[in-house]
Amino acid sequence: MIHVEKFTFNPFQENTYILYDQSKECVIIDPGCFDKNEEQLVSDFVALNELKVVKLFNTHAHIDHILGNAFVKARYGVDLYGYSSEFPMLDLANRSAKMYQIPYTESPPIDVTKKEGDKFSFGNSTLEIIYVPGHAPDHLVLFHPQQKLLIGGDVLFNGSIGRTDLPGGEHDLLIKNTQEKIFTLPDETIVYSGHGPETKVGIERRTNPFF
Ligand SMILES: [Zn+2]
Repeated sequence: MIHVEKFTFNPFQENTYILYDQSKECVIIDPGCFDKNEEQLVSDFVALNELKVVKLFNTHAHIDHILGNAFVKARYGVDLYGYSSEFPMLDLANRSAKMYQIPYTESPPIDVTKKEGDKFSFGNSTLEIIYVPGHAPDHLVLFHPQQKLLIGGDVLFNGSIGRTDLPGGEHDLLIKNTQEKIFTLPDETIVYSGHGPETKVGIERRTNPFF
């Protein structure tokens, strides 16, 4: 049984997730913690629940989702899993941090590249990786078929979709991919988005105004 813990971090109100199961192993997904207080919230949660952090995962490279990469890597010594290493993530993130004037310790490079159809495992749990570009050029989401949960990054939000006006964004591609790869998941799948509250696939397929 996977437990999902959500933190909402940084000026962009980004959702950072910690997933853990009975094994007490956990993974940190899109760590947006950007100051000492937010970093402390992560390490306190891990320590209080006696968890062992085994992996770090990024759904995509936008600055609000990777602000805490360097912290997690340094604190727990884990590998960073993510999208294609071809994407010039560090360069873009550095420029974004300067533009938004937010403190940013440069992210370490991707250690393990993941693609469509790969698995992502920790403890007793295995999630499936789905490739859903559109909001970002190389966007991955994680689906757990047994529990019907989706860690969806910035693809689909409660009543909305990810913006497509950032470099590499493509509106039509986002719509098509969401329809073909997300809306085909079971209706009761809970979507844990990169921003805002949870929703369900069936609710969004029926009511989301962008479709
Ligand atoms: Zn994003």
